[in-house]
Amino acid sequence: MAENVIRAKDLSFNYEESTEGISDINFSIEPGMVVLLTGNSGSGKSTLLKCLNGLIPAVTEGELSGSLSIAGKEYSSVKMHQLNKVIGSVFQNPRSQFFTDNTTAELVFPMENYGYTKDQMVQRLKELEKEFGLDGLLDRNIYTLSSGERQMIALASATALKQKVLLFDEPSANLDYGNAMKLGRIIRKLKSEGMSVIVADHRFYYLNGSIDKVLFMDHGKLKVCESEEEF
Ligand code: ATP
Ligand code: MG
Repeated sequence: MAENVIRAKDLSFNYEESTEGISDINFSIEPGMVVLLTGNSGSGKSTLLKCLNGLIPAVTEGELSGSLSIAGKEYSSVKMHQLNKVIGSVFQNPRSQFFTDNTTAELVFPMENYGYTKDQMVQRLKELEKEFGLDGLLDRNIYTLSSGERQMIALASATALKQKVLLFDEPSANLDYGNAMKLGRIIRKLKSEGMSVIVADHRFYYLNGSIDKVLFMDHGKLKVCESEEEF
């Protein structure tokens, strides 16, 4: 049996002084899987992704319980900088992923955490420019880019790091049909390179035929479907 890159057992999290959160979450993800995470607004998708990448409870007060292992290591024993080398994330608002002297080449990823220098990151992005259709975008002032253009750069830079797992939170929200289909092709390429991709989205036509598992979130509870057909 293949190793699990993520295994969650009875994972629960409640925001401080709130009944909202996620509870009794059980699932596993193997290398090279495309996983769709879907469910209504407010059902807990982003909360689950933030648990996986260490943002919860790092920046939010609240209780995380149950067990979670990432790339074979118990989550509680993994330090943030180690986690960042294994899991890459692109959030709903990619603007927050840039710091700026106003050029897009200035990326917000905590590069020292990944062991990359800024120059190396920019180099990687340039290599990916053609494939991702980012021609010329890197030299532009980020505030002149559209949300969709920013989204594509954030997605490209996240994949350039080649972590084992990528978390995309509503990646198609700002993309037109053509760019969403391009995103689908990129995700299939990442899968073929052995990366696991968890995509939280309400629309997923662009993943058509390449979903290996569906995580369906409903009021903080998770239902796991082992195939797109089962969903
Ligand atoms: P969407 O599809 O709109 O992005 P989601 O499934 O990603 O929704 P979450 O953002 O995970 O939903 O929110 C789950 C629940 O937790 C919601 O009820 C939300 O109001 C609540 N919540 C989210 N962030 C916090 C926070 N920082 N403090 C308290 N409650 C929060
Ligand atoms: Mg969300």
